[in-house]
Amino acid sequence: MMPWGNLIVAAAILFSGCSPVKAINFLNFAGIRCFSYRTYNALQQLYLVPAIEQVWQQKQQEMFEEIKKKDHAVKLGGDARCCSPGHTAKFGSYSVMDLNTSKVLDIQLVQSNEVQNSYHMELEGLKRCLGKLHQEEIQISHLVTDRHSQVKAYMKRDQPQIVHMFDVWHVAKGVYKKLETLSKKKNCELVGAWAHSISNHIYWCAASSDGNGELILEKWVSILNHVTDVHEGHGELYPRCLHGPVDDRQWIRRGSKAFLELETVVRGRMLLTDIKQLSHVGQTSCLEAFHKVVCSFAPKAVHFFYIQMQARIYLAALHFNENVSRPQSRTREGEKQYSVSYPKGRHGEGVAKEVKVDQTFNYISDLMDAVVDLRTVNDSYSKARDAINLPRRLPEPLSQSTPKPPKHDTIQKHVTRFNDN
Ligand SMILES: [Zn+2]
Repeated sequence: MMPWGNLIVAAAILFSGCSPVKAINFLNFAGIRCFSYRTYNALQQLYLVPAIEQVWQQKQQEMFEEIKKKDHAVKLGGDARCCSPGHTAKFGSYSVMDLNTSKVLDIQLVQSNEVQNSYHMELEGLKRCLGKLHQEEIQISHLVTDRHSQVKAYMKRDQPQIVHMFDVWHVAKGVYKKLETLSKKKNCELVGAWAHSISNHIYWCAASSDGNGELILEKWVSILNHVTDVHEGHGELYPRCLHGPVDDRQWIRRGSKAFLELETVVRGRMLLTDIKQLSHVGQTSCLEAFHKVVCSFAPKAVHFFYIQMQARIYLAALHFNENVSRPQSRTREGEKQYSVSYPKGRHGEGVAKEVKVDQTFNYISDLMDAVVDLRTVNDSYSKARDAINLPRRLPEPLSQSTPKPPKHDTIQKHVTRFNDN
């Protein structure tokens, strides 16, 4: 008879995002008798992972039904995450979010040996997400991403019915970095004084142009006049600046080195093409918040097998989706609550943040119910093994994609290296 307690404790370890090794050590150190890591792995594979997959799929279906009921096309945000440190990432995941509800609609995990190399994981992940939504007959009107070049080319060539737009924060950050570097060059220090307002200008161009690419472009390039204290004669769509009279600033002289260098950044060929596609329908910053949640369920420094990794990103999505639209918390007197922090880079300037009401974990009850159901139906390992033995698409383990030298040779090498005197 398989003990229930083991299963419930193993479930609690995984569902809370804990490291099983540490959790089992913790119990042992405290003198609480516990199962072995091996048993944990069996329970994880046979009951816990299938329960997570089941609950995620069910919640996902509910989201799809909700969207189809409303009968309008969704505006999607998409972003990739490297799931292991360094450039030789083993996994990449791609997530797409409904920008209207900020809920994660789909996540796809790609292992690097499924594609040419890790750079190709991002596009592959996106393709799988779009494929899934297409299969579920979800209409997509817009997709907002960063400016990954393969994604750009793919959307243009293969998904022309979806309006592809770029996340403003990514573009603004890129420009800011270039200006910051530029301001360190000789005779270009003035650019540094303008870097913040130029990158803010990008947000304004996107927000005030209703997706009119040519208008965004004229507004953007007008910054080259503005910094020289010229505020009209910009172009046909945007003839003059909309601001009122301006105080004296550190104007940049047209034709000076600082100006010419700034011009090469502002008129960068790629930037001028891409800036027309700046998003006004929503941004992907909420996806970055989701990626932080993924990190807490699947820390980058810990190694996971494909199935475990996938289960942990589903857990992250269940947690995120339940908690993403929490309202702001209020004091007993009914006042909205804020917290204020003083980040190092802000030089003493405070940053206020809304305090949300406490997180909820209702999805845990659903997961536990699913575990109990699975265990009731498959009350032995062998039954459970037969039940999950359905054909499923799993990438080959990374270690098997390159031929390994015999273990004996590797040990021999190690021994000689330490005994070579
Ligand atoms: Zn101006």
